[in-house]
Amino acid sequence: APRLAPSLSRLGTESAFEVLARAQALAAQGRDIINLGIGQPDFRTPEHIVEAGVKALRDGHHGYTPAAGLPRLRAAVAADLGARHALAGEAEVDPDTVVIVPGGKPTMFFAVMMLGGAGSEILYPDPGFPIYQSVIRYSGATPVPIALHEEDGFAFDADTVLSQITPRTSLIIINSPANPTGGVTPKAQIDKLVAGLEAHPHVTLLSDEIYSQMLYGGRRHVSLLSYPQIRDRLIMLDGWSKTYAMTGWRLGYAVWPKALVEHAVRLCINDHSCVNAAAQFAGLAALEGPQDAVNDMLAQFDRRRTEIVPALDALPGMRCADAAGAFYAFPSIEGTGLDARGAQDLFLQQAGVATVAGTSFGASGEGYLRFSYAASLEHIQAAIARIRTLLEERS
Ligand code: PLP
Repeated sequence: APRLAPSLSRLGTESAFEVLARAQALAAQGRDIINLGIGQPDFRTPEHIVEAGVKALRDGHHGYTPAAGLPRLRAAVAADLGARHALAGEAEVDPDTVVIVPGGKPTMFFAVMMLGGAGSEILYPDPGFPIYQSVIRYSGATPVPIALHEEDGFAFDADTVLSQITPRTSLIIINSPANPTGGVTPKAQIDKLVAGLEAHPHVTLLSDEIYSQMLYGGRRHVSLLSYPQIRDRLIMLDGWSKTYAMTGWRLGYAVWPKALVEHAVRLCINDHSCVNAAAQFAGLAALEGPQDAVNDMLAQFDRRRTEIVPALDALPGMRCADAAGAFYAFPSIEGTGLDARGAQDLFLQQAGVATVAGTSFGASGEGYLRFSYAASLEHIQAAIARIRTLLEERS
């Protein structure tokens, strides 16, 4: 047998991909499966973005680009962030601190490889994106869950986060709007967190803002980039996957503290050299072109959200709080008598509806189920009807 590295046994996974595989296997057997499991927009990438990628290939952009990304793209990202988050003066983004990577995930991996390792503690949200805990453990660092609660709208509570910091804490990961809960952390809590971090200069912050455009009900995103006092220890992650329906293109970026940029670029050189050039040209067209398609997608997500949240809340034994962001609803299934994994399996097998158990996102997710509403209204309505029938038959 191969002599595997011991660290490999510590690497976790993202269950949504496993649910997707099971749903696809059932569909291949002829079952009619509605997939509310996977977190990816059900829209095509807008046409002018696709055209820009195709044109880049036709124009002969077939080689390596600089490891940190095309200079034009890094500048466009800095300008886009400045405009979207109204950054001025000290808060403006220096294009030299922008590093383009293949998706949102590489920034997480690189940040944890840089700041983790044996002897350090890393705080991360629970329930939260499962890759955080996986890569923290893989690095040898100790994962310290920040428990998020339904009664707080699954927002971060600054006092709780600050109280978990020790001299060994190297990194805190936060995520708003959040996967899997749709929770949005209010500005007051972010203000408080940033102020409290002043007493802990050894701590770096990774702010995962991949859902920065997906807020509903008139809410505005508060980027950690708006706080220049922590820019020298902020890693701000965002990308194209969700906003522009580009999950398969593999394109993302982070703004790094100046002192960490060279390490991030070196990790890129060791890992993937650079992001494929055509995707970068497509990403440039996305930022510089019309945003009508994005606005249209956001309006559709909001319409679906206002459909699915009350519908889930009205199901027997279920309760669903308002989800303010991303494209997930995270109802409690406590009253159904099912546990998270049991509900996930039952809904898939008996109702043909794919969802993801809350426990896939950490221990605090027990009693909850994640529904992605990146699916058509018709599918959402049909899924709800099927689950209603199933739950009524069981009671
Ligand atoms: N961060 C969060 C919170 C996510 O939910 C996801 C994707 O589901 C990502 C990052 C990763 O995005 P990407 O597909 O661009 O790697």
